[in-house]
Amino acid sequence: RRKWNRVVGVLKELEEGCSTSIGRLRQVVDAMAVEMHAGLASEGGSKLKMLLTYIDSLPDGNEKGTYYALDLGGTNFRVVKVQLGGKRSRIVRHKVERQPIPPHLMTSTSEELFDFIALTLEQFVERETNSSDLPLDKKRELGFTFSFPVRQLSASSGILIKWTKGFLIEDMIGKDVSECLQQAMIKKGLDMRVVALVNDTVGTLALGHYHDADTVAAVIIGTGTNACYVERTDAIIKCQGLLTNSGGMVVNMEWGNFWSSHLPRTSYDIDLDAESPNPYDQGFEKMISGMYLGDIVRRVLLRMAQESDIFGDVASSLSVPFILRTPLIAAMHDDNSPDLREVDRILKDTLQIQEVPLKARMLVVRVCDVVTRRAARLAAAGIVGILKKIGRDGSSGSTSGRSKSGGESTNKMRRTVVAIEGGLFASYTMFREYLNEAVAEILGEEIAPYVVLRASEDGSGIGAALLAASHSSSN
Ligand code: ADP
Repeated sequence: RRKWNRVVGVLKELEEGCSTSIGRLRQVVDAMAVEMHAGLASEGGSKLKMLLTYIDSLPDGNEKGTYYALDLGGTNFRVVKVQLGGKRSRIVRHKVERQPIPPHLMTSTSEELFDFIALTLEQFVERETNSSDLPLDKKRELGFTFSFPVRQLSASSGILIKWTKGFLIEDMIGKDVSECLQQAMIKKGLDMRVVALVNDTVGTLALGHYHDADTVAAVIIGTGTNACYVERTDAIIKCQGLLTNSGGMVVNMEWGNFWSSHLPRTSYDIDLDAESPNPYDQGFEKMISGMYLGDIVRRVLLRMAQESDIFGDVASSLSVPFILRTPLIAAMHDDNSPDLREVDRILKDTLQIQEVPLKARMLVVRVCDVVTRRAARLAAAGIVGILKKIGRDGSSGSTSGRSKSGGESTNKMRRTVVAIEGGLFASYTMFREYLNEAVAEILGEEIAPYVVLRASEDGSGIGAALLAASHSSSN
């Protein structure tokens, strides 16, 4: 009994540590907007890099022709072809082929990696080409989604700042990514040209905008997390005299590295960070994304096991880092059976913990809930932070339409769409519901109806092909 009380104590402490009251979320919203300002004011002015993309126009549905894209940025590598029919028919056909990256290439040389990419592309193009496709003299154009931090030189070129996500190819750092691909394609005799180099959030934004012109931001919540949005060029103070036709530019926030003292942080987060390969880095991502949520839950359960015997005395598998993946906590969280059969199965199969009593299984579900709810609500606050920065959260006088006299008119409030992509938002129902709910809660019932969160799929690749179309030299 005393031991059970200790376990309940661990849960209580977790709940308090993970508190995301509306007041606290508003502080996170403000902090996000402030950091965005700081990151735009000067290079290194914030933990948010706020990288320029040189993408100043987004596809709008008028694009025509056949375009390709490559998407490199995680465990899978994708090759994409889209056929666009212009205003009426829009995306006539698209094809996405996924292929895992052979692990040895992730730590090889840039030449080996890009030879593999060019070969995959060449085979795809051959398979996909039929005579009716393209006049032979027409050069094929390609969008390249490369989801690692890049210092862009133009919309179609940029230099790799550093590798992440398990890639480490030293000779690539500081090199022009498009040039590496271009060289490999020339070697293969492949007549294609890179006309857009973007990261995955920008691809998602492009596809979102193609479908719905009110789309102004995109968020990825998968293994990692990041966001981008359309900023006014005159607000990008660190780059004076930036001129674009549209007066705007997409900014890649690299928001996974956001940090604020208002974020509700627990001892589990501190330990996870300290034991990670990149301590003090990607603080927001470590509280939100799929790579980490399972491991936060594992750490709480381990603590409970240490305080008591609820998981029996052989709970050693709980001390194995990353043994509990996020899809498993989603499965336990979604378990609707009265006796929590799925929870029981996962505890047995993954953690080798047998015969856990029902009330302890309920506790496990509760831990998943607390950790996931915090993640979803913090992501929601981040999104509203972006809306606040661009005057779409209903709080700033001129853009929201709230009259100066303090009246409640929202007649000038514009419809605003945020495209969201990634395994967590797409597949983890409770995460998605908590996120939607928190965005509405922070905005309030008057403004919330103007803001649409739209789930997107394969945007990172298809969006890059659309950007190739809108940046095509034949336009
Ligand atoms: P990536 O971010 O690796 O490019 P995804 O956007 O598909 O790819 O995200 C994959 C991540 O999403 C996984 O690492 C996992 O953490 C999370 N995920 C996938 N499926 C689920 C699920 N059913 N429930 C919860 N999380 C999931």
